[in-house]
Amino acid sequence: MDKHHDQILNKRLERAITNLKNHHFEVSVLEKKEEVNSFLESIIEKGSTAAVGGSMTINETNTLAWLRSGYLKFIDRYDPENDVHQVFHESFNVDAYITSSNAVTMSGELVNTDGNGNRVAAMIYGPKKVYVIVGINKLVSNIDEAQRRIELYAAPMNCERLNKDTPCRKVGECVNCAVPERICSVNVVLHRSNTPQRIHVIFVKEDLGY
Ligand code: SF4
Repeated sequence: MDKHHDQILNKRLERAITNLKNHHFEVSVLEKKEEVNSFLESIIEKGSTAAVGGSMTINETNTLAWLRSGYLKFIDRYDPENDVHQVFHESFNVDAYITSSNAVTMSGELVNTDGNGNRVAAMIYGPKKVYVIVGINKLVSNIDEAQRRIELYAAPMNCERLNKDTPCRKVGECVNCAVPERICSVNVVLHRSNTPQRIHVIFVKEDLGY
């Protein structure tokens, strides 16, 4: 990475870290996506129960493969033998919930849009610890910019990935549609980890996910 780019990025990260910590989020920073799973293994006790919120980021970090390795008791929402709605309910009781966020602001908020809402529900309440893996591409200035990021990138790209019949796929950004396949139902801003350090934001200094 260009050193000037790196310096500015580090300043932005420092501001985000300070503000997130002021609001009781735990924060870590990793250089590379390859470090994510060994880092999780170093901080999550072996044999803990775990579940995930849908995330392209944890695909890119190969975290699903690590979760299936047997180190943790993973409740796998993608296992066709499992009832996914039952998994969503069981996820509220796990020791470790692993997911990503659509955007994190330098002012210290996590901003997310969900369709079903199971991911944001578990981030808000239930799991003992929530690990939020965030590529540096998701760091934005404030909530307005976070929302814009979701409308311009995250939601349309998820529609494309899921092959949804939505207008954002045709025009390249959100038009606040009302079509049957709309994937955007709830916007949630997490301003604070109400139980201190329950939510652990793990920044990775690479682009990850949407
Ligand atoms: S509200 Fe509709 S148009 Fe906007 S991102 Fe969601 S699915 Fe696409």
